[in-house]
Amino acid sequence: MQDAPPLLVFTDLDGTLIDHDTYEWAAARPALDALSRVSAGVVLASSKTAPEVSALRAQLQLGAWPAIIENGAGVVPAHTHATPDPDAYQQIRAALREIPDALRQHFTGFGDLRPAEIEKLTGLSAKAAAQARERAFSEPGLWGGDDAALVEFKAALRAFGISTREGGRFLTLSHGKNKSDQMARIINHYKPRHTIALGDAPNDVEMLETADFGIVIPNPKGRRLPELKGEAQGHIIRAQQAGPVGWNTAILGLLERLDL
Ligand SMILES: [Mg+2]
Repeated sequence: MQDAPPLLVFTDLDGTLIDHDTYEWAAARPALDALSRVSAGVVLASSKTAPEVSALRAQLQLGAWPAIIENGAGVVPAHTHATPDPDAYQQIRAALREIPDALRQHFTGFGDLRPAEIEKLTGLSAKAAAQARERAFSEPGLWGGDDAALVEFKAALRAFGISTREGGRFLTLSHGKNKSDQMARIINHYKPRHTIALGDAPNDVEMLETADFGIVIPNPKGRRLPELKGEAQGHIIRAQQAGPVGWNTAILGLLERLDL
């Protein structure tokens, strides 16, 4: 068992460590280097799939740490490129085959689409769209029916132990774990002295509230996150700048404050 790290940082990717538009993260390099110097770990936590996150994790030289994928539905362990067992995903697809046609017809999952169609839908490159389709734990898709049918669709899936989460654009089906569930398991394993989480969106809120310090990265295009639990007590910090620039400043500031 390795020594407990002094600090574990859990970070969202899009709009947080990575710029929304350019997908750049270079502005966060000084803070990433500083974290590495004090032997702090960085756990990526994203809605992306294992192949997408593994590629980025390698670029960031964070392969020594696990990564949370598919919005917390699964984890890529440390030191491995192994593709997670897609059993959970196959179970979701199998459940979809059991749902009555009257409801099923309104849901178009990534697994129902060809890579070129996903490319068009998401604006991802051909390679990225193919990787986004390599799912192991969750199925995002578009809902085309009305609200009443959606209530029935959700209930039908619940009978198979599958829960649904509505994001900005997609309705995502999974076995119900979220980013903060996986974060709790990882904290339990490594037992870090301090924890920090960074995120910019509603699906990061639980993670931000679970950490000793949650850093809200502003999203110039989204709605401002409401006041979070612990914000009045100083456990939540609002970064001043968006993306990796805000990430860098906020982490360097906290490292100083934690005397690391
Ligand atoms: Mg984000």
